[in-house]
Amino acid sequence: MIMTTIAAQLQYTQQRLQAASQSAGRDPGAVRLLAVSKTFGPEAVAEAVAAGQRAFGENYVQEGVDKIVALRQQLPGVVLEWHCIGPLQTNKTRAVAEHFDWVQSVDRLKVAQRLSDQRPVHLPPLQVCIQVNVDGGPTKSGVAPAELPALAHAVAALPRLRLRGLMCIPEPAPSFEAACAVFNSAVGLLEALNAEGLALDTLSIGMSDDLEAAVASGSTLVRVGRAIFGGRPPKG
Ligand SMILES: *Cc1c(COP(=O)(O)O)cnc(C)c1O
Repeated sequence: MIMTTIAAQLQYTQQRLQAASQSAGRDPGAVRLLAVSKTFGPEAVAEAVAAGQRAFGENYVQEGVDKIVALRQQLPGVVLEWHCIGPLQTNKTRAVAEHFDWVQSVDRLKVAQRLSDQRPVHLPPLQVCIQVNVDGGPTKSGVAPAELPALAHAVAALPRLRLRGLMCIPEPAPSFEAACAVFNSAVGLLEALNAEGLALDTLSIGMSDDLEAAVASGSTLVRVGRAIFGGRPPKG
């Protein structure tokens, strides 16, 4: 069988996940793959769907909504799961609440409150991760670890959201060990919240270049773009 490039790269990414799970002594089924399709068109997503992928991540709200609508028309009856993983402004929350299944980039209560208020009643609660700036990186959004517990408890109390866990985008680390050290601090934050009575099951860590370290550290969801869809043009 001849495979498209995207299908082949998806398969290779799944093999990387399996190998990483195996060497960490983890169940390979415990780590889900989110295909990050930002900057790629609906036809690229459709190719990944044909290869069996169902969960997709988008950074830019309008681009994501356009793709969600296009795919629903193109592939009626195929249920996809869409995650918003980009920085969120308050004026974009309604489109997110109406179209996405997950939001991983919540880092302020005001955004969470709007998402909860604006989630349509006919849809299930919006699945949410709080983005944490786990390594104090200068350019990244995300709540500071010290402010995480208060935000997490407040988000967990919102009626139309379901708080599932944490998402982190650390700076690229110089080694596997250094990457694991940063990811392990995210694991510690999640465990501390669960010890305080939350029931979080999702740790969204790991991308194309560091998914092995993330899986070794306890990732339950890796967000992979370039390794599946290829290089993106530089941001203009
Ligand atoms: C773009 C992006 C990814 C995917 O990064 P790759 O290096 O292409 O795998 C993952 N998470 C977030 C939040 C992103 O913006």
